Amino acid sequence: MVPTIGLDIGGTKVLGVLLADDGTVLREERLASPHAGLDALVDTGASIVARLDAAGARIGVGAAGLVDRTGVVRYAPNLPNIREAPLRDALADATGHAVAVDNDAAVATLGEVTYGAAVGRRHVLLVTLGTGIGGGLLLDGRMYRGAHNFGAEIGHFTVDPDGPLCACGERGHWESIASGTALGRMARELVAKVGGGALVAAAGGDPSAVTGTHVGIAAARGDADARSLLVEYAENVALGLAGLANILDPECIVIAGGLVELGPLLFGPVREAFGRHVEGVDYRPPVAIVPAQLGERAGAVGAAVLARSLPA
Ligand SMILES: [Zn+2]
Repeated sequence: MVPTIGLDIGGTKVLGVLLADDGTVLREERLASPHAGLDALVDTGASIVARLDAAGARIGVGAAGLVDRTGVVRYAPNLPNIREAPLRDALADATGHAVAVDNDAAVATLGEVTYGAAVGRRHVLLVTLGTGIGGGLLLDGRMYRGAHNFGAEIGHFTVDPDGPLCACGERGHWESIASGTALGRMARELVAKVGGGALVAAAGGDPSAVTGTHVGIAAARGDADARSLLVEYAENVALGLAGLANILDPECIVIAGGLVELGPLLFGPVREAFGRHVEGVDYRPPVAIVPAQLGERAGAVGAAVLARSLPA
């Protein structure tokens, strides 16, 4: 089989890989995500494809948001100016390659099931904690995509009707308290209240620049404020995971996204809080909560796996 190209279009960056049929990443390229509409996004995608330099390779794309079965990105709360955007056809025109597009977390799930943390599993919930929260479901060995390909938007259910505003416009969605963006907001609130010197230092001295990444940096340095903030955040994450586990009964939950790099600082408190919230914890086999093995490449690798479904 010839190598395929995978593009992962997120809120902050577009990551592209050239993937061999044994799962080896042969080449990798990245650019910042433009926020100026479809044409700019297609230009960025086409530049990455050109740099990956694989004539004739089929292209798979994972894009954050609601992607229909014809490769139109209908709605993307974290990609401003992308609405009803015919990404598949536009990218195929711009590159001359065959293109398939699906939701970014769905393709990340495909990546982890094929080459990562969920190889051999049949009941998998994948959760991406990033700009927003994305979800992927492997149910009984098959990807579940719903009636319109919009399934598994697990970030968008209400956990607190009086909670913060979500990127989609609703109040108190799980994403609004448990995404990487939410962790950054919690950190800035903490800084405004108690100072949080280590958090501000991690952000280069600018309190308004503190993000979830800086919480991770300060926590890794042993800062008590950052560590207790992570415990509070882990509680928010576990609330949603436990509810979803009650509904879906997965064998394992794979967590993807930049915060995975925190390792035990995040997974320890998440597992502990999950055990307190899942139904009948003493009467069910433990649910493995594990980091995505493909790391930040999960979406791009999975998108390249998706491309294999295109005619050669
Ligand atoms: Zn929402």
